[in-house]
Amino acid sequence: MAKQLTILGSTGSIGTSTLALVEGCPEQFDIKVLVAGRNAGLLAEQALRYRPDAVGLADEAGETVLREALAGSGIEIMCGEAACTELARRPVDIVIAGIVGLAGLPSVLAAVECGQTVALANKESLVSAGEVVTAMARRTGARILPVDSEHSAIFQCWQGWAGHQDDLVNASGVSGIGRICLTASGGPFRDRDLDSFDRITAAEAVRHPNWEMGQKISVDSATMMNKGLEVIEAAWMFDLGPAQIDVLIHPQVAVHGLVYFNDGSVIGQLGTADMKTPISVALAWPDRLDWKPEPLDLLSLGSLDFMAVEEARYPCFFLARQALASGGIMPAVLNAANEVAVAAFLDGRIGFTGIGAIVDDCLQNAPDGDVRSLEAVLEIDARTRRLAETRCESYMSGASMAKTRGGI
Ligand code: NDP
Repeated sequence: MAKQLTILGSTGSIGTSTLALVEGCPEQFDIKVLVAGRNAGLLAEQALRYRPDAVGLADEAGETVLREALAGSGIEIMCGEAACTELARRPVDIVIAGIVGLAGLPSVLAAVECGQTVALANKESLVSAGEVVTAMARRTGARILPVDSEHSAIFQCWQGWAGHQDDLVNASGVSGIGRICLTASGGPFRDRDLDSFDRITAAEAVRHPNWEMGQKISVDSATMMNKGLEVIEAAWMFDLGPAQIDVLIHPQVAVHGLVYFNDGSVIGQLGTADMKTPISVALAWPDRLDWKPEPLDLLSLGSLDFMAVEEARYPCFFLARQALASGGIMPAVLNAANEVAVAAFLDGRIGFTGIGAIVDDCLQNAPDGDVRSLEAVLEIDARTRRLAETRCESYMSGASMAKTRGGI
């Protein structure tokens, strides 16, 4: 029987890759719900093509365009953030969580609260609210399947050893795993002269050498904050301590992740740099989708190189590690400050190196504390965003951030 899907973030990179896979195997999937942020035009096009029962658009400004485009189609239309969150509760076989940023958290949590199977691309949810999301999943029996390629790699290695273990969130306590390694391409500035980092433009930062992705994750890959967020995501997803998660730069991006077992064995997963592969793993689990991508050509790669992450080049990665080690509210602060700083960089309001400076500043001005509810996460997120915005303004006006002190 066809699997019923809800796609949150259908107009983005993850959403469109998911739809491309569905298009290749139409008999295996039945799109029930599509949700987007602002792109009413593309959402309407997708709706007319894939005929879901309902569509959701978070930005109410696009409602008229959407209603006009879908008039007479019989497709239910819901607009506004809260309506989109409600759509995540509709029972389906898999909810693909492909909204970017913390904006994706309410719908992820709504799906988890209803015990749905969530294919999670929206790493920011686990970074900022790992405790809330995983506790809820344990309570409701919701299954969280990874979409991030490195987490999918770990999942596949783990399953290769343990057989078809059930959901990852409940797989904590699987014995025999010493540590894991996530790989990173190093992004577009892996070999760039450090002295020129202040002159990096947004256009350069979003041009990833290996992956085609949305703008935010592309900048996160350039700073390697993305890998830092992934380390935090992995800690929650696989119930591992910070010291059990290694990261290596691997320019060929053929090996996505490795699991080191306590008996000296290492299982790794390899594949081409195409997000459709990890998405297909989540969509088809526990089976595999026969969608025939280009095979990995090891001969043409020639060699596989690995190197350590340099602190001077990738300070954001180390800030993320620090936030994970500190725990409590720090990962939520890190994520909120980063979202604001990346948006400011993309708007040309701050320079590339300002991203790390603003995140660092927000972390240093954060109080201790825990985040054990959605409300608490959203509150610390909002407070951090306000502080980060003021730091961006100081950055723009050239004022020293130290002169504009103030805490979260
Ligand atoms: P994109 O920017 O390409 O797409 C983001 C999607 O989220 C769009 O559909 C956008 O809608 C939607 N959206 C934004 N805000 C809202 C909102 N408030 N309510 C509903 N929908 C909203 O991002 P990506 O696809 O690149 O990334 C999505 C997530 O997946 C991120 O968390 C990223 O880290 C993760 N990820 C992405 C990978 C990739 O290859 N792209 C790889 C691994 C993880 P609209 O465009 O209509 O405004």
